Amino acid sequence: GDILKKRKIAVLGSRSVGKSSLVIQFVEDHFVDAYYPTIESTFSKGINYKGVEYDCDIIDTAGQDEYSIINSKHAIGIHGYVLVYSVASRNSFDMVQIIYDKIVSYCGTQSIPCVIVGAKTDLPKSPTLRQVPEPVAKEFAESIGASSIETSAKQNVNVGKVFELCLSEIEKRSPRNQEP
Ligand code: GDP
Repeated sequence: GDILKKRKIAVLGSRSVGKSSLVIQFVEDHFVDAYYPTIESTFSKGINYKGVEYDCDIIDTAGQDEYSIINSKHAIGIHGYVLVYSVASRNSFDMVQIIYDKIVSYCGTQSIPCVIVGAKTDLPKSPTLRQVPEPVAKEFAESIGASSIETSAKQNVNVGKVFELCLSEIEKRSPRNQEP
């Protein structure tokens, strides 16, 4: 049919966990090795998911610390969140949990459409270099009712899946699909 739904997705996480690389791999189908955005940028992409055409705005944020990574404007008009950490950085995973708590307090609800993304799976060349085991992230995601997935923007693994999961989390919470 002619259903077109507008959805806004914010991509948040510590600096250099691979947010821009993930978004650019998804929107433009290539890997950028060095991309240093100092400001937030919004990308548009049509996503066909379960037979429905979604017109998505993907907001690639560029905060420096926990205070600028997320602010109240990220609670306004955003339908879903993609929270990114690097599997090679425990700190970045801790930051995802801090960001999540902030979203909850800004939004005033525990029911946040959210995907927890462990990026750069190609990076740890040995198990000792991996700082976040997948089950740990999975357990956290389950505890907050979110989806989780691991990705490599470099090797183009699971990149599209991130945004499908996010749409799924959004739709789960609006079963009557009232929003045009
Ligand atoms: P952002 O600050 O979170 O937007 O991070 P960027 O997307 O700018 O990525 C930071 C650095 O990590 C860049 O040098 C990227 O090339 C690199 N990077 C991003 N994704 C991957 C990945 O999947 N694998 C590897 N090996 N490096 C990545």
